[in-house]
Amino acid sequence: MAVCYLGIGSNLGNKRLKIRAALKRIEELKDTKVLKVSKLIKTKPVGGPCGQPDYLNACLKIDTRLTPHTLLKKLQDIEIKLGRSRKHVRFGPRTIDLDILFYGNSVVNTRKLTIPHPRVFERQFVLKPLREIL
Ligand code: ATP
Ligand code: CA
Ligand code: CA
Repeated sequence: MAVCYLGIGSNLGNKRLKIRAALKRIEELKDTKVLKVSKLIKTKPVGGPCGQPDYLNACLKIDTRLTPHTLLKKLQDIEIKLGRSRKHVRFGPRTIDLDILFYGNSVVNTRKLTIPHPRVFERQFVLKPLREIL
């Protein structure tokens, strides 16, 4: 089992509901247990096109037997099921965004996956909820 930290963000549609729905689906993943969930925080968008709506962000702590790449795949399936479109503007609006921030003490560097998430430490909207559940 590996203890992982995930980041969740949403800035389209009913954000609170989308985040709840994502959380429920993560709880339902096999070989995975949700250990802690931070409060939701409202944040201004960083980068991306201007005029996009505010975000709701949260972090969670999970324990999983899924490998990093399997976990990524499962999280991407959840994003799509919750209505995230495949082609979207980088840093642009999205119904749901699920990022792997840390996966145990693993370092992963492949075309599809970089862990720790390279932008964790420059983002207050990640650090603030993360601090709550460390
Ligand atoms: P950012 O990565 O800066 O938060 P983003 O979340 O908007 O930007 P996405 O469009 O959601 O970026 O993801 C682009 C790709 O990033 C994904 O297809 C995935 O393969 C890759 N990726 C690399 N490392 C990670 C990670 N740690 N967690 C989630 N996706 C990752
Ligand atoms: Ca992200
Ligand atoms: Ca992402």
